[in-house]
Amino acid sequence: MQLSTSLLEKYSKAGPRYTSYPTAPYFTDAFGEKEWLEEIRQTQDKGRDLSLYVHIPFCDTLCYYCGCNMVATKNYNRATEYLGYLFQEIDRVAALTNPARVARQLHWGGGTPTYLVPDDIRRLFAHIESRFTIAADAETGCEVDPRELSRDHVRALKQAGFNRISLGVQDLNDTVQRAVNRVQPESLIREVYGWMREEGFHSVNMDLMVGLPHQTMETFRDTLDRIIAMGPDRLAVFNYAHVPWMKKHQKLIVESDLPSLQTRLALQQLILDKLTGAGYVYIGMDHFAKPEDEIVQAQQKKTLYRNFQGYTTHKNCDIYAFGASSISQTEDVFVQNVKKLSDYYNLTGGGRLPVERGLRVTQEDKLRRDAITRIMCDLELNKAEFGQTWGIDFDRHFADALAGLAEMGSDGLVTLEPGKITVTQAGRFFLRNIAMPFDAYLKQQSEDGPRFSRTL
Ligand code: SF4
Repeated sequence: MQLSTSLLEKYSKAGPRYTSYPTAPYFTDAFGEKEWLEEIRQTQDKGRDLSLYVHIPFCDTLCYYCGCNMVATKNYNRATEYLGYLFQEIDRVAALTNPARVARQLHWGGGTPTYLVPDDIRRLFAHIESRFTIAADAETGCEVDPRELSRDHVRALKQAGFNRISLGVQDLNDTVQRAVNRVQPESLIREVYGWMREEGFHSVNMDLMVGLPHQTMETFRDTLDRIIAMGPDRLAVFNYAHVPWMKKHQKLIVESDLPSLQTRLALQQLILDKLTGAGYVYIGMDHFAKPEDEIVQAQQKKTLYRNFQGYTTHKNCDIYAFGASSISQTEDVFVQNVKKLSDYYNLTGGGRLPVERGLRVTQEDKLRRDAITRIMCDLELNKAEFGQTWGIDFDRHFADALAGLAEMGSDGLVTLEPGKITVTQAGRFFLRNIAMPFDAYLKQQSEDGPRFSRTL
């Protein structure tokens, strides 16, 4: 498959990543703690499993490209203080949870979860396990920063109960690493990766990032070759989202050092060719996995789903998320915690749930969410089946969206048949664009509405 510059130019525009629909900027403070407490109470006997998320916001240093909610500090007392409040929040939600409910998924993200010292990793995991029932075969994953990591950290993750690791690599080139203030030589990454395999982690994901300063075809080819030789089970190659108006520290990145649109296009092509050539299956957007990986099988069986952690094989779960800025989700509700640590401490310490804002979704939101999910996960949508599930005439209900897709059909991103919408190979790069016509909120967006990162 060949990508063209004209397609990239045309479709490289601001758009959501659709880890939720409606997307987070549309949550409102009209939905707060009282409403969330009520929702938790009312949804305990619906037979839905749980997915637990824990946010650890601390990092040793700041990567200039960072888009996360994080605090750079070398003062470990801050993590100790945070854990105290985190435990309180976990206890409060657990006390409201039906003990018969089982967690199928547990994920720690950040920030840097391995900022925690090994004993605190064990302590936090054990605390969660003492409050929630975690399935024996649960998918338990942790994001790992190779810098400042010890073998004891890796051992603690394994002993605590994690079975998946996601390692932040981004790029192996020294000049690129310096330009983004994340210096981690290949020898370090190899060593850490070796520890993970030796400690028995059978699923290791690596995160790479494309669009960083000084990246060229030559440097990134070299990075990809060396990464492929290590053999991670999954790879996520994220596009760097340069949004300095939202993330002020990104101003530390010199814009003229960023690769041009042409280079970014060539890099996308390179990634696709290299990774599929090495036997990885392209799931869509940024994700690649080995053919035997359950994420590939889930896509084939149409059971793949998307949530705040990205693609997941666990569909009908309520997400209970803990920690500053984390987002919880039930079938009908999204709710986000306060982002500032002082607010998180005040509310949690005062016996409250630290909710900042949320949203109760409408029936219309739900059916649009389903359409977007089918596009992003199954890469196709059967109109008759969809219409039957939701009690609508698909073509009439989505007349606007179909009109929006027509041009993408002519550009070869989707195939539009009378009964079916199918994403083409080229369209897998443009999943965000293909989903956007189904987003009713974008249509209403005013000039001063939320600004999203570029889709490519
Ligand atoms: S380690 Fe991750 S969360 Fe921390 S600054 Fe770097 S990119 Fe951001």
